[in-house]
Amino acid sequence: MQSDELFSNRILALLDVINANGLGLWEMSDKTVTLDHKTSELVGLEENNQFELQDLLNLVHEEDRMEFKNTLEGITENPGKNGMVECRVLNKKEKNYSWIRFMGKSYLNKGNMVVLGTSQIIEGRALDLFNTMIENITQELNRKDELNKCVFDITEILLNADETVFEQTFQNCLEIIAQAVGLSRAYVYKNHMIEGTLCSTEIHEWSEGAESTLGEEFTTDIPLYSWPGLEEALNEGKNYNKYVKNTSPEIQEMIPKGTGTVLFAPIFLKDLLWGFVGYERTAEKLFNSDEEAALCSAGLLMANSLIRNDLNKNLYLAVDKINTTTIKAEVLEKFAYTDALTGLYNRRHFMELAQAPLEKARRFSTPCYAAIMDLDFFKKVNDTYGHLAGDEVLKNAATIMKNTLRSYDLLARYGGEEFVVLVSDTAKEDVLNLLDRLREAISASPCVHNCIKIPCSVSIGVSANFPGCTIESLIDKADKGLYKAKENGRNQVVFFE
Ligand code: GH3
Ligand code: MG
Ligand code: MG
Repeated sequence: MQSDELFSNRILALLDVINANGLGLWEMSDKTVTLDHKTSELVGLEENNQFELQDLLNLVHEEDRMEFKNTLEGITENPGKNGMVECRVLNKKEKNYSWIRFMGKSYLNKGNMVVLGTSQIIEGRALDLFNTMIENITQELNRKDELNKCVFDITEILLNADETVFEQTFQNCLEIIAQAVGLSRAYVYKNHMIEGTLCSTEIHEWSEGAESTLGEEFTTDIPLYSWPGLEEALNEGKNYNKYVKNTSPEIQEMIPKGTGTVLFAPIFLKDLLWGFVGYERTAEKLFNSDEEAALCSAGLLMANSLIRNDLNKNLYLAVDKINTTTIKAEVLEKFAYTDALTGLYNRRHFMELAQAPLEKARRFSTPCYAAIMDLDFFKKVNDTYGHLAGDEVLKNAATIMKNTLRSYDLLARYGGEEFVVLVSDTAKEDVLNLLDRLREAISASPCVHNCIKIPCSVSIGVSANFPGCTIESLIDKADKGLYKAKENGRNQVVFFE
């Protein structure tokens, strides 16, 4: 304070008295504020200080600043005017606010408007301070509760997620966390190796006010190293909590303009960096530890359910694949064993299947018969009614054979219009009766094709097993019987001895 200019000795003595009573002094002239040592002490400064008015205003709590400014302006309007204001002022040393009562009065000094005033700490305000503190703590606890509840809600939603609407459910979770923390964007990046480079692809995004963007649209794989600083932080398992202005230009490029703060949190699957979740907010305010904890927990939960959903999807695909492969194999097998026109076993399969009963008959010395059945004048059927009609006659004959013979008789299409049957464990007489019934049935049931009855008969040669016979030699013998049957006028059964 430039006391020599302003005050006489008497006045200086008066000022000492004022100081001794715990009051500080201050003076303002032309937007410069001078504080005496007492007032300086109140704001945590060492000695007398000179301030720009704006610097002093900055020390006043933002809720009280307007009132302080208005009061001061009121005083400076007319010389001789006085005023008083109580406000919280930051104590720079103790880093807390104290309630201070400022009083002041304006006067003219050599044509300049000057304000002279006192400052005094208000002890009575301690209770107010305490209340404010309690209020702040309550607010903080409520905020913690809110964040915990949000994480709890997400856990519950993801646990009960229906796979068929998973994408939508996931989107809802992003929105819940975004609204609880006050985010402008929330997203998930998944890593994968592309030609030896760790790349990341955005797979989910929630964006304030935007239409929901689900899964598949995001296909750009970005090498993780192209975001300097991020890969290192994530690999060390650290969160990347930064003002956007303090991130590298490459990272800023991936963040929409107007975003103040970002948080990237790594997601590990075992020891592998699976990917990361990203959160953005407009405010330039770092995420505090409670927010960080909630965002990380939500990220882990969401990634976990993404991984689980992926596994399930792959599992379903694999099961599907197994099913189709099995069906294919079954169809192929059927093709390999059967004749496409009649559905009977084909010759190759018959020869294979005939081995066992023939061997059994040899071992137990039981009879076993082979019969070869050849449709009569079949060439004529084709020539008269056409090849398609011939096919129908073949099918018709096959059906009659299947229905007349017993399920354990081994029946097959031997080739062309020839069929073969192996009959085991049956007496010769019964075999001949069975075959004659079959012959009879075929000639009695003409095939009807395009409303035309096509008559058909069959000649049958039969042979019995003999020592050292094979399926080939047995059929060969039956074929000789067939030859006889044809020779004798067809439509008959001939046993070849
Ligand atoms: P036979 O009474 O002496 O047995 O006289 P056939 O006319 O039945 O005997 P052949 O062996 O001369 O003729 C058999 C005919 O059967 C010749 C062939 O065109 C016909 N054929 C063979 N396989 C098929 C087929 O899958 N479909 C049709 N439509 N015809 C067939
Ligand atoms: Mg033939
Ligand atoms: Mg024939």
